[in-house]
Amino acid sequence: MDKEYKKFEWEDLGNIVAGREHLGEEMPVIVYRLFEFTTKDILSKHFGHDKAKELIRECGFLAGTEFYLNVLNKNHEDLSFEVFVSILQKALKDFKIGILKVESADLSKKKIMLTVAEDIDCSGMPLGDEAVCNYDEGFIAGILHEYSGVSWDVTEIDCWATGDRVCRFRIIGKD
Ligand SMILES: [Zn+2]
Repeated sequence: MDKEYKKFEWEDLGNIVAGREHLGEEMPVIVYRLFEFTTKDILSKHFGHDKAKELIRECGFLAGTEFYLNVLNKNHEDLSFEVFVSILQKALKDFKIGILKVESADLSKKKIMLTVAEDIDCSGMPLGDEAVCNYDEGFIAGILHEYSGVSWDVTEIDCWATGDRVCRFRIIGKD
């Protein structure tokens, strides 16, 4: 029988500054992409491509939840949407994940349209036949869920991998 797994906690990420005295906290984006795309390849081989995307989206959701709780809003403050967006924009830039813009947001209708330029997952990729930022879809859904308490469907409708210069995410709240 498999050993019971230990659920992920933020602390598991460790003290990177202490552990990488000479190399430091940062690394080239290609290393991140190599990890992500090979993971997607192997998951697709074992479980099929649709299931692989679903699993990667779920990983992104967990990451987004933890990112919100440990980076964006450590003190669990009540943030207005404007303040929340400005904190998120700054964090995505500081962490070099991408450059976020809110194209439109109608919270009463639970509809938001976001773009991410220079996205860590896909910017510069060769043209393919589908949007590839499933991890980001989950990441954004996790962040928004933790912020609002609402569940959201996040769908990437434009992506560098489909010929666009930014990733565009259509976000619709579930009832
Ligand atoms: Zn993309």
